[in-house]
Amino acid sequence: MDYEYLYDHILGGLYGQALGDSFAMPAMLRPEVTWKRYGWFKEFMDAPDDHPAHHGLKAGQITDDTEQAMSLAMVMIEEGGISVEGAARAMVKWYDMVDGDHNDYVGPSTRKAVTKLKKGDDPHRTGTQGDTDGGAMRVSPIGLINPGNLEQAVKDAVTSCTPSHYTDVAISGAAAVAGAVAMAMSEDATLDSILEAGIKGAEMGVTYGSPWMGASISRRIKMAIDLANQNKDHYERLVDIYDLIGCGLATSEAVPAAFGAIAISKGDLMDTAKYAANLSGDADTVAAMACAVMGAWKGYKAFPSFVIEKITQVNSNWNFKETAEGLAKLALKRL
Ligand SMILES: [Mg+2]
Repeated sequence: MDYEYLYDHILGGLYGQALGDSFAMPAMLRPEVTWKRYGWFKEFMDAPDDHPAHHGLKAGQITDDTEQAMSLAMVMIEEGGISVEGAARAMVKWYDMVDGDHNDYVGPSTRKAVTKLKKGDDPHRTGTQGDTDGGAMRVSPIGLINPGNLEQAVKDAVTSCTPSHYTDVAISGAAAVAGAVAMAMSEDATLDSILEAGIKGAEMGVTYGSPWMGASISRRIKMAIDLANQNKDHYERLVDIYDLIGCGLATSEAVPAAFGAIAISKGDLMDTAKYAANLSGDADTVAAMACAVMGAWKGYKAFPSFVIEKITQVNSNWNFKETAEGLAKLALKRL
């Protein structure tokens, strides 16, 4: 893997995260409500005024998932790697930037952790009860700096989760996503090898963190893939994933659902965004994770130009290319 290859796939991972996040952001909380309102997702749309978390967001606008991933990426570039203190700093920086005290889209574990961190608590202790999907939703840059290295991606996912999501279940989910992103960067990656990396990452990740309650991420990823591969129409399969796996904030729902969205798309980037959006629930997070994996696999050059243009134009306060350059240099050093 040379610099050019790494840059293309890392930029793809960042734009993938942003694509899933912004494309699915207007989705409603239940698939039948989303379906009645929009049918299949075809384009970027404004969030509707009655959306509980995203009201006011414009078509193509990213949310906390991509903002936090970018914030984490920028701190890793500054520090030349990942540390617990760096992960905490990235989170607090983002929280202040979005005026977290008055912002509906800050997740529950992150809000708890930031409140403690601002009081001066030790970042090794502030995340011991965080079990929701925030550790997984921002973890993709950890995969991007560990191309083809599942073990290191899992270890670094643990570090990045520590300040806010240091429970076995949250780490398992983050390790699944980081592992899938890392292995999607391999030159010989296939849909099956990527899904397998997610399952393996989840199995490895659950051995870290404080013991907590939660269904098995690895077994539920397998279940989500089975539901995605059923011989039924696509909408029915999505409803099965929503009803039986769930697409809520719980890590054991959102992360397996993301792998379900990848599986049902058969490895197509835009179909992954569409199916994850129509899944509804915490759709922006599910889609952000799924499309980050897909983007890391397919690379930047595989994106339709309208996607790149829209995301770049609407989110001009974030510099995806500069961040990808920094991450690519970091990834190259770590190979
Ligand atoms: Mg979000």
